[in-house]
Amino acid sequence: MNNIVSNIQAIQNRINEACEKANRNPNEVKLLLATKTVSAENIKHAIEAGACIIGENKIQEIKEKYESLKSVVHEKHFIGHLQSNKIKEILRYEVSCLQSLDRLDLAEKLQQRLATENKELDVYIQVNTSGEESKFGVAPNDATTLVKSVATLKNINIKGLMTIGLFSAEHNKVRQCFALLKSIQQSIIRENIEGVDMKELSMGMSGDMEIAIEEGATMIRVGTAIFGNRIYPDSYYWNESKAVN
Ligand SMILES: *Cc1c(COP(=O)(O)O)cnc(C)c1O
Repeated sequence: MNNIVSNIQAIQNRINEACEKANRNPNEVKLLLATKTVSAENIKHAIEAGACIIGENKIQEIKEKYESLKSVVHEKHFIGHLQSNKIKEILRYEVSCLQSLDRLDLAEKLQQRLATENKELDVYIQVNTSGEESKFGVAPNDATTLVKSVATLKNINIKGLMTIGLFSAEHNKVRQCFALLKSIQQSIIRENIEGVDMKELSMGMSGDMEIAIEEGATMIRVGTAIFGNRIYPDSYYWNESKAVN
């Protein structure tokens, strides 16, 4: 637990330093705790240490931790691949933002369900900026079109974009991913699409958060650097067959 508290402090220091370097205000960069595989107890410690946004990749984990986390005030985002048969559950478990919206058919089904339940949901559009087959997200060239279509769905509120950068030791290539997301954001803003808010850029993780902050991230998603290594490889979360739907 002490580790979690001091690790969050260390992340805040990294945010501050990166912001200083990039001439940005650290208040512009929110921290999301990437809590896959993390116990509810450890998540609570992190929330008590001052973090307030968590992100989960799987409905099953949200469900398992739901009761235990009720006692701490927090905001819950979904950052994993969402299958359309799980839409009901992200609403049932009070997810307030879906960061991984990457296709119109999912958005349309989500809209239907939201209308039925008389609810609204914030979303970020996930863009595949690395070009890797294994990663989800709309292709960069199709992002604006998707935003325009989703913008017509009344109960869905677009708040920004999300991406997972390339895993690479070559910082330039990682940086290109984040710069691409920023440039897509700028071009969508220029289109002035009604009902579209493009403030949020969710990008950067334990290994590349400084680069993301330098390129304009407003939210970084950090797991390992706070909670330690996970027992499952990330491919378990990211490489699920796209056919499963
Ligand atoms: C796990 C995960 C993260 C955090 O990754 P770390 O390297 O552990 O910081 C960020 N974003 C998504 C979508 C994730 O699945």
